[in-house]
Amino acid sequence: MTEKYRHLYVIIEHEDGKFLPVSFEMIGEARRLLDDFNLKYSSNEKVVAVILGHNIKDISKKLIEYGSDVVIFADNPELKDIRNTIYTKVICQIAQDTKSLGEIEPEYAGEVKKPRYMFFAADSIGRHLSSTVLVELESGLASDINQLVIEDIEMSHQQKTGGTKETYKKTLKMYRPDFSGFLWTTILCLDNKNPAFQRDYHPQSCSIIPGVFESLKPDSSREGKIIEFIPTIDEEDLKVKVLSRQIIKSVVDFDTPRTIVSFGRGIKENPEQNIRLVENLAKELNAEIGVTLPISKKPYSVSQALDSKYMIPDRVIGTSGHKTSAMLYVAAGVSGAMQHVWGMKDSGFVVAINPDEDAPIKNECDIFIKGRMEDVIPLLIEEIKKQIQIVEA
Ligand SMILES: Cc1cc2nc3c(=O)[nH]c(=O)nc-3n(C[C@H](O)[C@H](O)[C@H](O)COP(=O)(O)OP(=O)(O)OC[C@H]3O[C@@H](n4cnc5c(N)ncnc54)[C@H](O)[C@@H]3O)c2cc1C
Repeated sequence: MTEKYRHLYVIIEHEDGKFLPVSFEMIGEARRLLDDFNLKYSSNEKVVAVILGHNIKDISKKLIEYGSDVVIFADNPELKDIRNTIYTKVICQIAQDTKSLGEIEPEYAGEVKKPRYMFFAADSIGRHLSSTVLVELESGLASDINQLVIEDIEMSHQQKTGGTKETYKKTLKMYRPDFSGFLWTTILCLDNKNPAFQRDYHPQSCSIIPGVFESLKPDSSREGKIIEFIPTIDEEDLKVKVLSRQIIKSVVDFDTPRTIVSFGRGIKENPEQNIRLVENLAKELNAEIGVTLPISKKPYSVSQALDSKYMIPDRVIGTSGHKTSAMLYVAAGVSGAMQHVWGMKDSGFVVAINPDEDAPIKNECDIFIKGRMEDVIPLLIEEIKKQIQIVEA
């Protein structure tokens, strides 16, 4: 049987030649998956790192050391800064380039049309890029994934299989929390085997949450192929110009502080007063303030000072924001959705304040204080002040 799809392509992210950790994490997971895959299917499919930029040839080798079998690099001054239109075009060219697919495995030259799987980072760049690339490649995309399995599945589906039971070999099962944040969802990207709507959906692709997977230890003795791809770039693709670039340092520091006080939509009864309470508690604990994702979308009207200081994406804890390993994490008015918990579960000691005993955060904390933040936080502040006086006396 001919092989139309082979290999796992990982789209690498770097900042002026310095790799983002998620790039190595994706390669690590790709390596683990393909090692099992090759064993299970007696195959020899490759982890292919794809990197775009300018003056990047020398850094490509590092991607082999971290677990790739092959690196395909496109080096061009127009690729120095990430611009979605041109990056989408070049990645699609690479994904459909039968010449480099033939170089990877000469025995399959001319046969393989596209990668079997593709990984992107689920950060602001990768989320955007993955969506535009997969539209161009006419396949599906699962975003914000944090668990992956490859296996054969059997299923019958009215649309996909015309109601008969079919086997889908080498299926990438992509897991993520559902939109509520309280249940797991499995996403599959399956070809239509129904004769009435026959159509392929490859590559099976996803964006991967940074920090979820572990990178491998680099091994300088690893060997692999490095392939240069010469992209076709037209004037039309370069309409967006980068005139200047400035890296803005966040005013929020989740790395240094040993304590974080986070608040969520539980502030809703009196948002202004409740944020002030959180602020006072954070002051007593010398803590940084975090928020849940909905808070960063400014769901309640508060004074401009509090809005611009706290209801901002920079403060989000979770898969869409920061991961913390604070010694003490206080979650006030936070329900404990999976996406939020992922960001705080490595904290040393967790205190949750919530009137709802069934809130999932109860399963994630060391101390659950059943009560409204309006009632609990003033008591906590009073007690902390007392304890500080005793210690200082
Ligand atoms: C793709 C995607 C990515 C996401 N990423 C993130 C992420 O990174 N971070 C994140 O946080 N969320 C994220 N979310 C959203 C997540 O699924 C939840 O919707 C969100 O975390 C819930 O926020 P919350 O706890 O503030 O609100 P709610 O779920 O509404 O919970 C509010 C809690 O406050 C309690 N409460 C009510 N009154 C009081 C009171 N007076 N005092 C104290 N407690 C009170 C309630 O009992 C309730 O438990 C994401 C969702 C999606 C779909």
